[in-house]
This record gives sequence, C-alpha cells and structure tokens, in this order.
Amino acid sequence: MYKNYILDKDYFIQVVKDLAVMAEVERDYLTKLDSLIGDSDHGINLSIGFREVTKKLPEWENENITAFFKKVGMTLLGKVGGAAGPLYGGFFMKLGEPANNKEEVDFGEFCNMIKNGVEAVESRGKAIIADKTMVDTFRPALDALMAAVEAGQQPLDAFDKCVKAGEIGRDSTIPLIAKKGRALRLGERAIGHMDPGSASSYMILNIFYENMKKRF
Ligand SMILES: [Mg+2]
Repeated sequence: MYKNYILDKDYFIQVVKDLAVMAEVERDYLTKLDSLIGDSDHGINLSIGFREVTKKLPEWENENITAFFKKVGMTLLGKVGGAAGPLYGGFFMKLGEPANNKEEVDFGEFCNMIKNGVEAVESRGKAIIADKTMVDTFRPALDALMAAVEAGQQPLDAFDKCVKAGEIGRDSTIPLIAKKGRALRLGERAIGHMDPGSASSYMILNIFYENMKKRF
C-alpha cells in the first residue's frame, strides 16, 4: 500500500543529525524540566549521548538501516546516563530491526520500525500509560499511527496524527503523580510538571515527521 513512499538511508542519517541538533538546542529546557521532578540531568545526558553519536556518524554511513540504528542505540546506551540511557538505547537498537538489513524502507515498514522501538521502551521500562513517563507520549502516538495506517491514510496524514497524539500524551503527564523513576518519591509534588522523558520523546517523533515532510 505504501510502496511509493520510500525512506532511504539518507533520510535516517538526516534524522539522526537533527536529533543531535535537538539535543543541543533543547538541553537546558529538558534539564530544567528534570530539575523540577528528577535529578536535573535529562538534557545534559541526551546531549552527551548525541555528541558521541555525531562523532561516530561518519563511520556508520555505509551501514544498512538495521546496523545503523543498532550502533546509534548502543552508543546512546553506553553514553546516556540515568533511566534515559537504556530506554533510548533500546528504542534505537530495536528501531532498525524491521528494516531487515535493507538500505531503504517503505512507509509501512517504517511504521513497524516505530512500533518495534516503542515496544522496546515499554518492555525495558515496564511503564504503562499514566505512569508519567515517555510511554505517555509513545504509546498514544503509536496507537494513532497504526489506526491511521489501518484506515489506509496517506503517510503524512498518518504521521501527523501520530505526532499530535504524542503531543497530547506528553501534556497529559503534567497533572500526574509519577509511578516510575525518581519523580516517584515526590508524590503529589510532581503534579503540575511535565515529564522530561515524555517531552524528549515528542521531540524525537517530531523530527522523524519534519524530515518526512521533505520527502513525501
Ligand atoms: Mg534525570
């Protein structure tokens, strides 16, 4: 159904480059969010991780999509501290698997990549909706994406729904008490603050979307 909508290696390399820019631009904002309910390091950790990714990126340009994201994920896993390291490490390591060692995927295959990445976050973090984590962004975003694909919608329409559902999910963390992570100890004091992981998860999905708009 989506055979004419191809995302190639150049697309994914550009996404990763833009993620590295995001990690710098949003570092202080994400760290500030984490200072309110966590340990003030989320933005700093992502920046450290993506600086390492940027350093190694030229070595990976000839890898297929599966191997490429495995390396991105392993680098983040090794460099990003806190809970975000294993979660985003897992997300990116698993993201490329459905690409089956190919150099390009169609939009349908890309949706399976997102699904695989989100499920990795859920299984590693053992979080569910309303725990005040990145799952509050990722799970509704994935559900909206898959529903749109099921309904046969055009890729940009489908991914627009994905990103918008993620944004609503991100904002849904504001009034919640945390059930995971350091914010757990804050109890009701976490109320009124957005979860930093849900914020960065939304930014990640949005970067996939913004680059897709230049392709489709
Ligand atoms: Mg933290």
